[in-house]
Amino acid sequence: MSHVMNTYARLPVAFSQGQGSRLTDTEGREYLDAVSGIAVNTLGHAHPKLVAAIADQASRLIHTSNLYGVSGQEALADKLCALSGMSEVFFCNSGCEANEAAIKLARFYGHKKGIELPTVVVMEKAFHGRTLATLSATGNRKVQIGFEPLVTGFVRVPYGDLDALKAVAEHNKNIVAVLFEIIQGEGGIHLADTAYYQGVRAVCDAHDWLMMCDEVQCGMGRTGQWFGYQLAGVQPDVATLAKGLASGVPIGACLAGGKAAGLFGPGNHGSTFGGNPLACRAALTTLACMEEENLLANADRMGRLIREGVAENLRGLNGLVDIRGHGLMIGIELDRPCGALVGKALESGLLINVTGDTVVRLLPALNFSEADARELVSRLSLLIREFLTG
Ligand SMILES: *Cc1c(COP(=O)(O)O)cnc(C)c1O
Repeated sequence: MSHVMNTYARLPVAFSQGQGSRLTDTEGREYLDAVSGIAVNTLGHAHPKLVAAIADQASRLIHTSNLYGVSGQEALADKLCALSGMSEVFFCNSGCEANEAAIKLARFYGHKKGIELPTVVVMEKAFHGRTLATLSATGNRKVQIGFEPLVTGFVRVPYGDLDALKAVAEHNKNIVAVLFEIIQGEGGIHLADTAYYQGVRAVCDAHDWLMMCDEVQCGMGRTGQWFGYQLAGVQPDVATLAKGLASGVPIGACLAGGKAAGLFGPGNHGSTFGGNPLACRAALTTLACMEEENLLANADRMGRLIREGVAENLRGLNGLVDIRGHGLMIGIELDRPCGALVGKALESGLLINVTGDTVVRLLPALNFSEADARELVSRLSLLIREFLTG
């Protein structure tokens, strides 16, 4: 019997090595990886520059402490601010921690304004993590049941509904921020239109709220832009990152600008591991490779190729509801629960994911090649066709 706590319904496979977007399991079978560790392996597996940088950094320094200066952290913060339009960064180790930092920032901001019970607006179908505050912010009852009492200080509105946001603004004077995903990942790849994102920005400005984007999944080049909010031409006050930031080495970041900058001082927040030299080197190398290899453009191009290819192969097929997304964050919605497709794909040597019960989710590495993309399109189209007609 496994001594690992039973928190995941795991598929019956384990991998021993990878190369690019190919994984080999412990029995020697090969798989095409269209999940990349849930949007984590930005550079695919075993990218030679990342491997060399991590080995070199490990041979010098893995960890010191935030009691001291960390030069990689300074360089990474500079780079992230230049790309994001933000002005400062707090480093941690995961997405939920990045969101915890954002929620703490929002509360701190509220208290400074004299609001004693600061409240953050969150969205239906949102996912922000599994810690107590972030599961309370998450818009999925399944992650909350059994863990009450939930953390208070959140109000929920439907995603994409600007009137609902304006309505809570009218009657709740404790609101200090809105926290949301530009593209909802775990909820089923839901997007809103540009007017909505700009409208959220306008409501935040009108009421002096912080606009906080959870970019843990849709950030870091995934959508073909560095950050999802750049798709909509809006600049939030806070953005959180994790998943793809260091291509698999754990790291999270909470970026702040505008009214959210300069709030925290020594003692207000911290993390033992956050932004350690190894993680920062992996993140800096990931960003450098993304630039050298033009991976934003690749994500955009491969994303179009996959969405258009699947659409063409499945045109007119009964049961196909929608194909959507930006870049390499893709959802294929069917008219029925399709979790069974994951196991079928696995048997055929293909790694895909299903989220929101009825949505096939694809999150390939940002250096997914055209050959990989074409192979994914034909193999996945076949599986979906069989599933819907079989
Ligand atoms: C994965 C995810 C998180 C949680 O990240 P962890 O590293 O698992 O804590 C938070 N927000 C979004 C949008 C995510 O996709």
